[in-house]
Amino acid sequence: MKRLSAISLGWICCACFGSPTPLAPSLGGTVGVPHHGAQTGAVQLPKRGAGFERFRKNSPHYWGVPRLIATIETAARAVQEKLPGGQPLLVGDISAKHGGKIPGHRSHRTGRDVDLLWYVTTPAGAPIKNRDFVHVSTDGLAKVHGGDDDDDEYVRLDVERQWQLVKELLLAPDANIQWIFASRSVEALIIDYARARGEDDELVWHAETVLLQPGDSSPHDDHFHVRIACTPAEALRGCEGGGPYWEWLPPLPRLPGLDEALLDMIAEDPLDEDTGSIEIGEFGLWPKLAPPAPKR
Ligand SMILES: [Zn+2]
Repeated sequence: MKRLSAISLGWICCACFGSPTPLAPSLGGTVGVPHHGAQTGAVQLPKRGAGFERFRKNSPHYWGVPRLIATIETAARAVQEKLPGGQPLLVGDISAKHGGKIPGHRSHRTGRDVDLLWYVTTPAGAPIKNRDFVHVSTDGLAKVHGGDDDDDEYVRLDVERQWQLVKELLLAPDANIQWIFASRSVEALIIDYARARGEDDELVWHAETVLLQPGDSSPHDDHFHVRIACTPAEALRGCEGGGPYWEWLPPLPRLPGLDEALLDMIAEDPLDEDTGSIEIGEFGLWPKLAPPAPKR
């Protein structure tokens, strides 16, 4: 039985909070798939913290599921502490407060995706602050925009910090990293470095598994796109998919998929920030923030 049919009557008698739609009061948190979904109970990444800064300081797209925000903060702090003397990690878009489509991205709709700009150095190896999404080529160098052709400036991928970041992401408690999208050449630079350092074989294998140049979007030579997998508890509340579920992650419950029509409604009817209501097609405005009716 599709979940929609089981729950479509539930909204009439249940004023549940934290659900993206009254049609599905059992859903909440990160709901749907990364390119088709919503989120409730999201947490906002601060403008800056130990070892990180937002790339777009005042953007409204820094909301994610609490464990993704915690993972970014934990990993950035660990890189700063273990490799002092560097510059902060620049964090790109995450998601909108209630999820759904944001400009410039197909995914990033469920609070489980984040873009992380590169740690960079001068060509000679001194850490400097990255200023943009710079494209790293096979030699690890990236041209910086601004100069004319005779006056090209380059920065170098800071492979040492970049590997440390991968390691911290993979080891962060409850992060459940599903993908780190990055170009093949960036992956090669990072994995070669990890092997040369004699890092743990299993950890390097996990890194090689989650690092991937996506076939259906940009090659990601200008940033990491990190996606976390659903936890078992999130899966029970509607979290779905976004790629393979790796064998080293905790087993997920077997559930029927969410109804496509319900996902459409959730994705297309975001909460109205001004009124605190969501408009659900023929059901009109649903006062999401109104107090529940008194019990008789
Ligand atoms: Zn992205």
